[in-house]
Amino acid sequence: MRCEIIAVGTELLMGQTTNTNARDIARELLSLGVGVYYQTVVGDNEERLAEVVKRAMERVDLIILSGGLGPTNDDLTRETVARVLGISLEKNEEWEKRLLEFFSRFKRPFAQNNLRQAMVPQGALMLPNDRGTAPGIYLEKGKNIFVLLPGPPKEMLPILKEQVIPLLKQKLKASGKLSVLQSRVLHVIGLGESNLVEMLKGILDNQDNPTIAPLAKGAEVHLRLTARGHFPGEAQALLSQKAAEIKAILGDYVYGEDTDTLELAVARQLKAAGKTLALAESCTGGLLTHRLTNIPGSSEFLLSGLVTYSNEAKITLLGVDPAVISAKGAVSAETAAEMAAGARRATGADISLGITGIAGPGGETPQKPVGLTYISLEAENFSLTRKYQFWGSRVEIKERATQTALYLLRRFLLNKLSAS
Ligand code: AMP
Ligand code: MG
Repeated sequence: MRCEIIAVGTELLMGQTTNTNARDIARELLSLGVGVYYQTVVGDNEERLAEVVKRAMERVDLIILSGGLGPTNDDLTRETVARVLGISLEKNEEWEKRLLEFFSRFKRPFAQNNLRQAMVPQGALMLPNDRGTAPGIYLEKGKNIFVLLPGPPKEMLPILKEQVIPLLKQKLKASGKLSVLQSRVLHVIGLGESNLVEMLKGILDNQDNPTIAPLAKGAEVHLRLTARGHFPGEAQALLSQKAAEIKAILGDYVYGEDTDTLELAVARQLKAAGKTLALAESCTGGLLTHRLTNIPGSSEFLLSGLVTYSNEAKITLLGVDPAVISAKGAVSAETAAEMAAGARRATGADISLGITGIAGPGGETPQKPVGLTYISLEAENFSLTRKYQFWGSRVEIKERATQTALYLLRRFLLNKLSAS
């Protein structure tokens, strides 16, 4: 079953309201294995709405509309769909009663316009709305199924979840077409999108079920696998099988799945190895410490995170040699190495990291441009310092520097880093 979601409302076209309904409807449909092929937004305009509905009827089976079911003159969805289908509207006595009761209970004056909300296309099913005055509508005509839902998300979602999804499920089951769509996201670090596509060429060229989509995500690449199965377990088994195939090719470049973060993956490694960590940060201003302390139980491995922003702090708190700073500068490989060494010396941690760089936008020199960053990792009989040139805003540079530091740490703990 192919679906198009049509969100109706000029406020959506103008960007005053975000079309969260389309997102929420699409997500709910995953549980039925219904593929959303199109999402359309159209204003409160009868002619254009009719045009969009006609086109949807040609290209999909299931058409879900949201918005335009209210009592005002710009609410046109009910009437327009009925007109396009050549079906007349009839009064739903039950809903008219509900409306009249509602208005007398809340002592609100009753405008005749409200009765439009009790009008339902002939042969359609009225979907009661417990949270508002406009009910939803379910209608079958030829090969098409129409679902009309009120625009306010608080009204739309319960009708969708409690009435529409069960109804569609029953329908699909009866015709033997019920399936589920499930997704899994593999997180890849240290490999660019084009390299990744190259390595997975065989798998990507022959994808079917699951389908696989790479998405660049900051310094990472995410691979979204989507599988269709008759039931969730079947889809999950297909996902696990394909994920294993991909991991066999990409190896350690895959650090996690779904909601995993790089800091979480590194925290797991540190805990598994029983290693402790100390951080000395300058340009990242404690962001690396922040990211690692977001992990519950980080006290098991994190001994200290020192933000030494000034030269003075680097000298007095970390024991960086003032001569090194004056000869090489605060942003230099030598300073980064001394910061890491100082953090390890002060705490007795197994591993330490030192980060120093120019986050910008000011402070650059011809030799030291914005984004220039040195990251140093020290451990017993091991020391490595790397130079990086990051780009982007101040916040992005801080983000990339911490991401890279975590990546170095990950590689070190995998024994995949050789000392410089
Ligand atoms: P309506 O049913 O057209 O009267 O919609 C009433 C209100 O629902 C609008 O003013 C919006 O605030 C909200 N709304 C309508 N469509 C959407 C949508 N697609 N996504 C999120 N909110 C919506
Ligand atoms: Mg509207």
